[in-house]
Amino acid sequence: MAINLKFIVDNNVGKLARWLRMMGYDTLFFAGGDDSQMVATALAEDRVILTRDTQIMRRRVVTNGRLKVILIKSDEPERQMRQVVETLNLDWQFQPFALCLECNQSLVARDKQQVQDLVPPYVFQTQSQYMECPACHRIYWRGTHWQAMTKKLEKFMKG
Ligand SMILES: [Zn+2]
Repeated sequence: MAINLKFIVDNNVGKLARWLRMMGYDTLFFAGGDDSQMVATALAEDRVILTRDTQIMRRRVVTNGRLKVILIKSDEPERQMRQVVETLNLDWQFQPFALCLECNQSLVARDKQQVQDLVPPYVFQTQSQYMECPACHRIYWRGTHWQAMTKKLEKFMKG
């Protein structure tokens, strides 16, 4: 299994980006426009394209195997995620808590003292591990939101 897989997600399956980032997989979101741009980025950065666009499958770089594309079947995000995980045999517990869900940047560990003024008091009292996104400066902690998403993922992958 290739653990360093990277992705580019077409805007027609955009919700996959957050799920893959949550698992720890480097995932770009392609905002739309010219497909050739997405294909060029995927080739240059060695990324797997995830899309519902059948046109891309006919491109020579795809048919000759130079570029890996997964044609997503469902329009339901959880099924889409499952298809990707199963097709590539991804480890859905690969690297949780490593990437910003919004901008795909690697999170940086922060001391509790550093975030005191940046998180709600009840969070500060109950959480000890914090990560910050160097790009958007969101602070992440393991409680609440993250836990809820992890549970959802776990339930879905096991069920
Ligand atoms: Zn960010």
